[in-house]
Amino acid sequence: MIMHGKATKSKMKIHKPGWQGLGAESKGRTASRWLMFVIGLCLLSCLKPDLLSQSNQKAGTLKNPEKPVIALVGGTLIDGTGKEPLPNAVIIIEGDKIKEVGPAGKIKIPAGATKIDASGKWILPGFIDCHIHLATETSKLEYYQDSNSLATLRGLQLMNMYLRCGVTAVRDVGSPVEVMQALIRAQRNGYIDSIRLYPCGDLITITGGHGYSMHGSLAVDGPWEWRKAVRQMYAAGFKHIKISPQFTLEEAKAAVEEAKMLGLHITAHGGGFSDTIPPTMTKIAIQAGVECIEHLNEMDDEALDIMAERGVYNVPTLYTYYASYQRNDINKFLIEKRGWSMAMHETLFKKAYQRKIVMGIGTDANGQYRELYPQIYFEEMKYFQRLGMSPMEVIVCATKNGARILGLEDELGTIEPGKAADLQVLKDNPLKSFDNLGQPEIVLLRGKIYKF
Ligand SMILES: [Zn+2]
Repeated sequence: MIMHGKATKSKMKIHKPGWQGLGAESKGRTASRWLMFVIGLCLLSCLKPDLLSQSNQKAGTLKNPEKPVIALVGGTLIDGTGKEPLPNAVIIIEGDKIKEVGPAGKIKIPAGATKIDASGKWILPGFIDCHIHLATETSKLEYYQDSNSLATLRGLQLMNMYLRCGVTAVRDVGSPVEVMQALIRAQRNGYIDSIRLYPCGDLITITGGHGYSMHGSLAVDGPWEWRKAVRQMYAAGFKHIKISPQFTLEEAKAAVEEAKMLGLHITAHGGGFSDTIPPTMTKIAIQAGVECIEHLNEMDDEALDIMAERGVYNVPTLYTYYASYQRNDINKFLIEKRGWSMAMHETLFKKAYQRKIVMGIGTDANGQYRELYPQIYFEEMKYFQRLGMSPMEVIVCATKNGARILGLEDELGTIEPGKAADLQVLKDNPLKSFDNLGQPEIVLLRGKIYKF
């Protein structure tokens, strides 16, 4: 991610779920205190899985007792798998899931289904942004005046903006814990109605490390503190972990081991963005066993080879780098001493593509770059195409690969039976041009129709 300004660290307090405080009660000596404790524990056992399931947000968990049926007919289907488009397709949606998909004539439309005529239009899965910071401030002034309440509303604004554009899921790789919890709980309680959110909570870094000064980071040192930080994110209800340099191999390994033990997905910021972060960081993260590397920063062929061999994913975030170079906002040391340029990121992209490394679309537009939303998502898709991918390959990156990177390939990302009913209907053929992406006529999210 990109950092702006060198603000003094004003550490946001990590939000601990209320039940953690129950430990103190166990010290009570009276029977009634013990009784309270036991009742508390019973409540805890009810509450904790519920909290976890919120962050998991598995497709199909919304209450939908009547399971309305929708038939999307006549459109050309691009299902996200990379298969040839299917003209005159029929897609049957039941509740929040896709039930059947096939050519007209082969799929029976159930009686009573709400029929949507998509003739002449194009149907795609909802897009996925694998690298976003929903809550980050737009300026230094806002940084100092910020609150979690304001950050929550800022996050919601971006989520709703994305919904209108056909981006139906995001992985947040560093935002304050309390903000992410509020957005997820508000969705679950029906206070808000927006896209799917898969947060990491605070990104984990070292004292003074990359991301240290941002709201939404947790600074820890030494393997046991790194383990504890992962446990804290787990306890806060998150299923994804993001680690950020600098870290020693011992620290990264401790985080990865802990994440895997707790069934969490773990990704790492790759390479530096400052003169003090050595390029070896990416290799350390890969050796430690992370599932994904964020950005394509300064790495050698060996690192790419190991990524390809081990199936480590990558989220290049090219356009935000492009914008940073344009605005002269890249650390001069990296340009002058380490030879950074857009050409470096582009070469790495081509090498990753040659090695068939699974890549996803991520935006990472923080601070002053936040104004680039929502268009930056589609600019990133165009960048992939300019660097040699076919339009169909890029669409797979935005859909199926995004779901793989989120660890949700069985639930999201493609239009196939059993998957989440998250899709978009476009007026123009995206295989001809990406220019009109972001303006869907209809978005279906969890099987619910949104028309714009
Ligand atoms: Zn980032």
